[in-house]
Amino acid sequence: MRARITSIENLIAKDPNTRNIFPLIRKDHMRLAASSLVQAERVLITSGFPILRARAGETDGPPGAVALGNALKRLGKAIAYVTDRHLQELFKAIGAEPLVDYSPEILEKLEVSHLVAIERPGRARDGRYYNMSGEDITELVEPIDELFLRAQSQRVVTIGIGDGGNEVGMGRVFKRVITDVRHGEKIASTVPTDYVIVSGVSNWGAYGLIAALSVLAGQDLLPSSCEIEETLERLVRAGAVDGLSGKSETAVDGLPLGSTLELVEELRWQLTPPLQGVKGVEVGVIGAGRSGIAVARLLLQEGASVRISEKESRQIPKDLSECKWEMGGHSLEFMEGVDIIVLSPGVDPSMSLVRELRARGVPVLSELELAYQLARPTVVAITGSIGKRTTVELLGSIMEAWGNPIQVGGNKGRPLSELLLEGSRGPFALAVSSFQLESVRHFKPDIAVILNIRPFHLERHRDLIETLRIKSRIFMNQGAGDFLILNSDDPIMSPLEEKHWGETLWFSKDKPLSKGAWIWKEKILLCPDGGEVRCLGSLRHDLPAEDLMAALLAAWCLGVGLEDLEKVWEVLWQKKNC
Ligand code: ZN
Ligand code: ZN
Repeated sequence: MRARITSIENLIAKDPNTRNIFPLIRKDHMRLAASSLVQAERVLITSGFPILRARAGETDGPPGAVALGNALKRLGKAIAYVTDRHLQELFKAIGAEPLVDYSPEILEKLEVSHLVAIERPGRARDGRYYNMSGEDITELVEPIDELFLRAQSQRVVTIGIGDGGNEVGMGRVFKRVITDVRHGEKIASTVPTDYVIVSGVSNWGAYGLIAALSVLAGQDLLPSSCEIEETLERLVRAGAVDGLSGKSETAVDGLPLGSTLELVEELRWQLTPPLQGVKGVEVGVIGAGRSGIAVARLLLQEGASVRISEKESRQIPKDLSECKWEMGGHSLEFMEGVDIIVLSPGVDPSMSLVRELRARGVPVLSELELAYQLARPTVVAITGSIGKRTTVELLGSIMEAWGNPIQVGGNKGRPLSELLLEGSRGPFALAVSSFQLESVRHFKPDIAVILNIRPFHLERHRDLIETLRIKSRIFMNQGAGDFLILNSDDPIMSPLEEKHWGETLWFSKDKPLSKGAWIWKEKILLCPDGGEVRCLGSLRHDLPAEDLMAALLAAWCLGVGLEDLEKVWEVLWQKKNC
């Protein structure tokens, strides 16, 4: 349950407008907010952010507010809305009748148990309200945030959802906003809430909260694609504008409708439990490369009916002759009626066939995700921009020298399906790419390693933060008892420890650590449990130090004791020399 909500938290943290929100996210606030709302009786919801140029309300906020209100109504809660006088019409257009009164007495009068703000200005240090560019918008904002300041003394639970640092709720992460957000000094909201939910777009934060409520309530409370589209159209007809362009269009924060619909679909998958076998299930495999073939074999073995679509033409392997085949391209007709689609790594997930099947509600899984769900083996997953394969191989050698070999594979090596076909149930050491991590749903390594983080393209900060978010999906399903191994020399990784539920171990090339692995005078030192420090031996120039330290720590997490690691070192890399 907790893992699925962490996963939802990660999904809504996508930061398409590069506002650097990732460091603002407070671990577990999403789950705590949702759990509290499940107990709510009367919820007062506020939203509405004025756009100075257009002197109108923006498209971010009200759709999320009303969707959350509707979800809560389905759970039997009483709902009321409040917004600025000049934004009343926007709310009415999308089916909400806001109160005109927002004097603090209404909290008592309405017996409000929970107060929720979605994309609602919160006063800055100087008592005024600012937009993200630092422009003063005070004349267009009514002081509804006062309710949140009063709520505390009245035992009303408060929740704030925001995407920029200037909204109600962000007072909870005030210092972070000052240091990490552009114009933070000036715009940072001083209005805290009990729980703050930070997302790339505030509507997404609301949809995320609805998804979390759905997980807790055991029912899908998310709005449908049609509802989301219709709400935006009505809102724009009533005068709302896109917050970025200032234009009258259904975009939200400069993003087209499609990106919200995609996000909500991804959220919906978090409500789907992992597969309990595939007997009799119709599975379509797109791409007949190494992993496509391996997964098709595994699926057949597990009793599924398999169709394989391949864009080239190639010979059909004998043992896969009972599958249906399509060659020379991918068509919708061929995939008509499938229950699940498995995408090979080389296949573009945004191709129209995949989009169409997704829109029809067909789950799209990667080979790694499907194989994992079928077997749920013990996995050491290793990601990073460089060194994944080397680390996997090093861990394989260590485990073999210890006398308990593990099977290695993953991205660009042997796919998990292939390893499972041999009958082994693990543990496995797998190299995992960003591409694979983006489609992770229930994949949960027992030990996760992030070696380093480099931007995908140029040395651009936005790529770096987005890469960090994607890499952090490697541990989003982990819980107590699982391990996360991180590189302490990569300062961008430092916020990850507090987002992790299990135990975190660090390694460093240039400084001693209280717990983990590090290098001192060209020697590798190990202290994974915070106890005695062991020297394993001299650094070897043919082995990348980072990869080696990560592999040693992973081996320790797999149960190789420190003394055994010393012996293994001697066997593999000669005597200690410490
Ligand atoms: Zn905002
Ligand atoms: Zn926004």
